[in-house]
Parts: sequence; structure tokens; C-alpha cells
Amino acid sequence: MNASLDILPLSSWINTDGKPLVIAGPCSAETEEQMVESAQQIKDEGYAHVIRAGVWKPRTRPGSFEGMGEAALPWLQTVKKETGMPVAIEVANPNHIELALKYGVDILWVGARTTVNPFNVQELADALKGVDVPLLVKNPVNPDLQLWIGALERFNRAGVRKLGAIHRGFSNAQENKFRNSPMWPIAIELKTLFPQLPIIGDPSHMAGKRALLFELTQRAMDLNYDGLIIESHRDPEKAWSDAAQQLTPVALGEMLHELHVRKKSYGDDYQTQLEIIREKLDHLDRELLETLAARMSLVEKIAEYKRDNNVSAYQVDRFREILNTRAEWGNSLNLFPNLVDELFKLVHMESIRKQTEVMNQVSA
Ligand code: PEP
Ligand code: MN
Repeated sequence: MNASLDILPLSSWINTDGKPLVIAGPCSAETEEQMVESAQQIKDEGYAHVIRAGVWKPRTRPGSFEGMGEAALPWLQTVKKETGMPVAIEVANPNHIELALKYGVDILWVGARTTVNPFNVQELADALKGVDVPLLVKNPVNPDLQLWIGALERFNRAGVRKLGAIHRGFSNAQENKFRNSPMWPIAIELKTLFPQLPIIGDPSHMAGKRALLFELTQRAMDLNYDGLIIESHRDPEKAWSDAAQQLTPVALGEMLHELHVRKKSYGDDYQTQLEIIREKLDHLDRELLETLAARMSLVEKIAEYKRDNNVSAYQVDRFREILNTRAEWGNSLNLFPNLVDELFKLVHMESIRKQTEVMNQVSA
């Protein structure tokens, strides 16, 4: 289905002096002091343009901290007054929108758990008719680009033109390095379909832990994202939600300082189709290597098992089975048979080398 979005450029509703937009702030507004102090420290660091906070928190299980609700909205007014910075919160129903507007919240976002539901999205879109407030739409929790596009379209048709997307990654079916898998090609596809749509990276919710924030943030910058939304709390360890992934305002400043930010951005006239395709290739190749690395760590597990059970590394039947099944899979994907054959011979050879290495180590 062909689609288009009629949206205004990011620079028409927020001034970032040509730099990527940075939205920073705690996962949740907990107390007035926590909010004001976190925001003041972020302001003093000088990198952020907007302060974020969660007021209504969509939690997976009941009993977790579900946000302070309306009581937190006056604190955000204080934040605005004391820092002079605009504030952004998540809204999930029309009542949230009404209250957010009543208290002068400047930017709204729709959370991943809301984007999945077209009924919810349509209710929000109806509530935004005739309202001039910027809106950012997080990707749905499941990796469904059409659902993400559908939500953007519903808002756009309701007249929201100060519109952007937040890429926060997708729920994992299996254990994964990241709390939410980035699946970069989905966001790249969105950007390719709608070059004028601003994309904001949310490395916090992709990472789930501080140690992974830098690589994800750098990756978003390498993809020329238009901005970042990152969680920052005056005392992350004591945060009432998402403690493991938040940074102090100072640590966030240090991390952002380390980033390598390129000048070109997606959608600019001088960026040719060729470059866009090359970026996609780079990312697919990187994923290819990440898959290979994951395969090698399984090989190590097999090797340990074989060593402890005194089984030989090379088993001819298994090798034949690998070549045959992969040939079939490759065939069904229209891949050149020689490529698949050579590739798996190489992969298998490396696997034998690795297994031999592990099997010659003494069992732990
Ligand atoms: C958040 O931004 O704090 C949040 C709840 O995010 P998400 O909707 O991406 O899970
Ligand atoms: Mn959070």
C-alpha cells in the first residue's frame, strides 16, 4: 500500500541549532525534588533540548510502580519554570492528553504498548484533532513495520503534522543481549519510505542496562537519526523504574561527548539512494557477523559437551546433513548454490577448529 505523511520538519517546532535533538530525563517522575533536580542537572550539562518523564507508567506486571499520575504534572510545570526547557511525557488515553495539555506539557509521545493497538491509537488521534502539539510515536513492541506506519498515519490524518517516530526496539522472544532488539532494518525501512519523518533513537529501552547504551547510541548516530531520547536520573540506582538503564546527567553528558556524530542526515537532497542502500548493506553485514558470532558460541557449548562425553569433534553424517539442509534452505531463498555450499564448508571448518581447541582444554 502506498502511503505518504504530510509532516512538518523537526526544525520547524524545536530549535536544536542543527544538532540531533536530545530528550533526556528520568524514566518516571517520582517526586518534585527528584524531577526538578534531575532536570536542573541535565540543563546545566547543556546537551539536552527537552526534559522527559513518565507520569503514567505502562508496567508489565501489576504491583510495580505505575507512575504518580496527575499529581506529577505540576512538578513538570516547575521544571519548565526553573529550567526554561520544554517537557515531554507519554500519553496512553484521551484523558492523559487532556491533562497533559491542561498542565502545559509541550511534547507528547505514544508508548510501544499503545502503538500496537489501532483502537487505542485511533482514540488518541481523535483526541488530538485540532490540537497543535508535537507527537512522537514509539515503535510497537512487536516487529511490525505496518503497525508503526498505521499509527503514524492515524495521527497524521487527524491533523498532527508535528510528528516523529521513536525507535525503541522490539520485544525478544528468546534471551537476548538487549532488553529490546533494535532490528535496525525496520527503522531504516521506515526512514526510506518516509524520508521527511524525524526518527529519534531510544537506546535506553533497547539496552536495558547502562553498559550497552553507548554502542546503541553510536549506532543511531551512524544511521543519522534525527535525535535521541535517553533516560537520566539524579540517582539512577534508586530509580523507581528502569534503574539499570538510567545514567546520571553528568554520565550522560560524558557518553554523548564520546559520540562520533556525522554531519549528513537521511533525507537530505545530497544523500543519494545509493548511500541509503549501502547503509542497509552495512547493517545487514553486521547482523550477519553477529549471527555468526552467536553460532560460534553455540559451537563452543557443543564442544564442551563432546569433550565431557568423549565424542569426536567431526561427525561425517552431521556434516552431510548440514550441507544438505542448508542447500535446500538456500535454494528456497533463491541463493546461488555454490555460495551456500562454500559458505557452510567454511563455517563448518571453523566450527571443527574451534571444537578441537575447546576439546583440548582440560575440562573445568
Ligand atoms: C518509557 O519511555 O519510559 C517507556 C515506557 O517506554 P516504552 O513505551 O518504549 O516501553
Ligand atoms: Mn523507562
